[in-house]
Amino acid sequence: MATVATEIQALTAAAFTTPAKFTDFCHNGGQPLGGIVGGESIAGSMNATFQTTDPGSQEVLATICEMGEAEVAQAVSAASRAFHGDAGQGWRDVDVQERIALVNKLVELCERDRDVFLACEILDGGKVSELAEGDFTQIRACAEYFCGVAQKVAMGDGPALQIGDEARGFTYREPWGVVAGIIPWNYPIVLTSWFMFPALLAGNTVLIKPAEDTPLSALYIAQLAIEAGFPPGVINVLPGRGEITGQCIAEHPEVRYISFTGSPGVGQAILRTCDRHGTRMKREMGGNGSAIVLDDADPEVVGRLVGRYTNQHYGQTCCTIHRVFVASNIADDFVEAQRAFFADLKIGYQADEGTQLGAVVNPTQRRRILQAQEEAVARGGQMVLGGGAAEVSGRDGFYIKPALYRTTPEVDCNPAEVFHTFATVCPVNSAEEALALANSSPYGLGASIWTRDVERGVALAKQFRDGTCQVNCHNSIAYGLPYGGQGISGGPGGGVNCEETFLDYTQVKAVYVTDYPG
Ligand code: NAD
Repeated sequence: MATVATEIQALTAAAFTTPAKFTDFCHNGGQPLGGIVGGESIAGSMNATFQTTDPGSQEVLATICEMGEAEVAQAVSAASRAFHGDAGQGWRDVDVQERIALVNKLVELCERDRDVFLACEILDGGKVSELAEGDFTQIRACAEYFCGVAQKVAMGDGPALQIGDEARGFTYREPWGVVAGIIPWNYPIVLTSWFMFPALLAGNTVLIKPAEDTPLSALYIAQLAIEAGFPPGVINVLPGRGEITGQCIAEHPEVRYISFTGSPGVGQAILRTCDRHGTRMKREMGGNGSAIVLDDADPEVVGRLVGRYTNQHYGQTCCTIHRVFVASNIADDFVEAQRAFFADLKIGYQADEGTQLGAVVNPTQRRRILQAQEEAVARGGQMVLGGGAAEVSGRDGFYIKPALYRTTPEVDCNPAEVFHTFATVCPVNSAEEALALANSSPYGLGASIWTRDVERGVALAKQFRDGTCQVNCHNSIAYGLPYGGQGISGGPGGGVNCEETFLDYTQVKAVYVTDYPG
């Protein structure tokens, strides 16, 4: 988290050289990379492949086999066998210390191959190294936190309750069985860890469906899981398109629980499918984050900090700031500070030294963002920085310039999540007016208040209709505090990264017992 004492600058790239191990992994001896099912690489019966590319150069990184209905069924069957155990102990019966030991071994192997993961994030995901390195640390942080939770939460029989003279009852907590994590492209390592570690440590076997734009890190993790000694079928990875592979997972009646992270529209569609099969679902979805800047804030400092958070992963971060409501007495200076911050961002290839704004992930995203920039003006936003396509010499990537608009309370020119360095700034006359405008969005993921009066900030922050409310910071995430959404940004469940997340991957039954009659 940046503070006023440090120089406020955007997350920045160091020069990155592709490690040979990553190249070898992608090349896979000249064969497409298969899905990982039952501890083995499988090609897929559809004979369909897709390519994953570097968004900053459009260079093809790897060819991947797409998993269809038959492979999903095969994976569910392998995961189910691993859960129950063929003859003897299944993953559900493995002692928690043994599960923890395997998770720790996997983390060690990930750290051994840190460069490969950084290459996945930087080259496949299009990130600058400063962000990719931070993301990588989440593998250990997440695993350690949930190892701690797993040792604390009592699985199995709960305390007995005497029910009248004749009966007693108790709760019985157990893992669901086969659970699936459907992952978006913007934070592949982080979101795979957030799903996989609590689910596995609770005793479930997992199917991981990485996004089609960033499948490499999950496939690599699955290879390391085999090396770490996870029993076959405990961790399965099913690459493919959402409407093919993802849909087959959602349709499979033996997938007991789905953890979905992605856009609200897709999450709602999967929920309807899950409802048909009685599959439980956890949903962590998009946002259109807001910041309220009170009249005692320094517009220069806060303007730059808000700009830094807006630009995190070029605005392709679910909780980041896209709507700013600023006290009218400092609005002109704030807009100027943010304009200067955005205008100074170094647009470039994400693996080149100094880049702060790289390419967006794919051409569909580029089209959507450019369209949103035009719509912001059509809806009445006053252009401060107009965006538009950007060129990076020698690189054929999806580059776009930052966009900033000034607006008024009557003009909503930023109604839906735009996944880029894109923000609207609206001058307001009171904190109450700002809160009403911030809370008028159907999203509710992340929001912040910026003020020297921290106590007042805390009181106002609690009034956001968002899962994460911050004072003088944004995009902060800590294990032990829930990260989830309200409104269309979330669904039922405890969010991620807290004890309730672990409980989400378990179910509780009530067991009643009386003596045999007679
Ligand atoms: P997306 O909804 O398009 O896709 C997410 C995943 O769902 C992908 O793996 C995709 O293949 C799969 N999918 C798509 N259609 C499917 C279907 N019919 N059935 C099953 N699976 C299907 O999202 P995206 O574009 O990959 O990611 C960006 C979105 O994710 C943004 O809205 C962002 O805000 C959100 N996000 C939210 C969080 C959070 O924690 N709340 C974190 C990161 C990203």
